[in-house]
Amino acid sequence: MKQIKRFPAVDGSLGWYESMPNQRTHPIIKVTENGSFDYVVVGAGFTGLSVAGRLAELEPQSSIALVDALLVGQGTSGRNAGFIIDIPHNLDATDADRFTDSYIRSLNGFAISRLDNIRKSQGDDVYWRQIGKYLAAHEEKHFKNLEGFAATLDNIDEPYSVVEGSELKEKLGTGYYKKAIFTPGNVLVNPAALALSVSKGLPENVTVFESSKITAFDWESKKLFFGSQTLEADKIILATNSFTEEFRGCTNKLAPIFTYASLTRPLTAAELAQFEGVGSWGVTAAHPAGSTVRFTPDNRILIRNSFDVLPGLSSNQKLIEKAKVQHRKSFLKRFPELNTVPFEHSWGGMLCMTMNHEPVFSECRPGVFAIAAMNGVGIAKGTYLGYYMAEMIVGNKSDSLDFILNSSNPSWVPPDPLRSLGAKMRLSLEQRLAKGEK
Ligand SMILES: Cc1cc2nc3c(=O)[nH]c(=O)nc-3n(C[C@H](O)[C@H](O)[C@H](O)COP(=O)(O)OP(=O)(O)OC[C@H]3O[C@@H](n4cnc5c(N)ncnc54)[C@H](O)[C@@H]3O)c2cc1C
Repeated sequence: MKQIKRFPAVDGSLGWYESMPNQRTHPIIKVTENGSFDYVVVGAGFTGLSVAGRLAELEPQSSIALVDALLVGQGTSGRNAGFIIDIPHNLDATDADRFTDSYIRSLNGFAISRLDNIRKSQGDDVYWRQIGKYLAAHEEKHFKNLEGFAATLDNIDEPYSVVEGSELKEKLGTGYYKKAIFTPGNVLVNPAALALSVSKGLPENVTVFESSKITAFDWESKKLFFGSQTLEADKIILATNSFTEEFRGCTNKLAPIFTYASLTRPLTAAELAQFEGVGSWGVTAAHPAGSTVRFTPDNRILIRNSFDVLPGLSSNQKLIEKAKVQHRKSFLKRFPELNTVPFEHSWGGMLCMTMNHEPVFSECRPGVFAIAAMNGVGIAKGTYLGYYMAEMIVGNKSDSLDFILNSSNPSWVPPDPLRSLGAKMRLSLEQRLAKGEK
């Protein structure tokens, strides 16, 4: 039996979770007694939700447990910026080509329509808005990144428009950005609300256990320990992202990086004056270490930026406060008129990266499967990887599964302390280069 040493924590005040439009009404089920299932899926983020959902569809007679240390919507899946990105993103695999980019585009599209169907079937308002996104630059030196992105889009015949100057200001309600590439297919959501909706939509043969922390495991007997209780299964699927190495689901592959977000309170009618005629929107930065910014359907502003390398896999209030100072600066640069508007929530969460941006997707031990490292685009990627992991487990074959297997070879990263040192150096350089995009 192996003990787990690092556990997920609620890192701050989780803005999306606290402001969900679909308040939770169903009870929390915890692991309080021993149990046995055909499948146990660990991790109720978008990846685990998708594995469990597809397994349940493929094998309606099977028993499936989906377990998480936190509540659905509190993990990283509910802490992100809420972009369900349809096109190859600057955090997707490197050295892409037309074939790869087109494939990623179609898998992302598949994930978006699957999530859309599920949330519609639940009748939940999760602030789902298919309103595209802007990849925007403040500094001219980053225009070249916009051009590179446009070339990627041209290569796969993806529509986009270039928006600049006063037109961009009219669309966003801020004159901070000089130029942007707008792509129409991106969806913006409250990600905690969407995760909750997807969990409600799971078929009846899935039992969701929340607030149930796995403290140890034994892969010989396929047993998971929750303190003194156990769950055992024929097959176990790890959808634990940054925590996957804790479960020996992979070794020396992951580079977990903390990033932070702050959400204002809803703007008042007077504060909304500068947004007259402006609908909700989302901006990602022309430099990958820049700020992600959103104007939400409930009239809040989200700022996401700053990175930390924290080998303990949890943050603390001091670091969250430090990130909040940067969020404030970034907010005021874009919205100086809103200088009296406070942030209501600030939190941290982990981007789980790999060196070559390819995910972990494998049977890591007989009967134990791992999917990890969504490289910053986990809503769509976690959804399609989870779906195809279920397909693989039941023995279904497809071109999409082959594509995924061929593009899931994450490269080696050195163990700590070298890993953290290398990541810190790289991030500090990138953050300096991002400058005005932060
Ligand atoms: C601030 C921020 C902004 C981001 N913005 C975006 C974005 O706009 N769009 C996008 O697509 N992605 C974004 N990402 C990345 C995205 O959130 C992740 O890729 C996604 O959450 C991965 O989903 P997952 O289900 O694989 O893992 P997770 O969501 O991390 O789920 C893993 C689950 O495993 C559980 N777990 C771990 N250990 C244990 C244990 N011992 N016992 C029980 N349960 C355990 C955790 O509690 C967790 O809920 C962002 C990330 C951050 C932090």
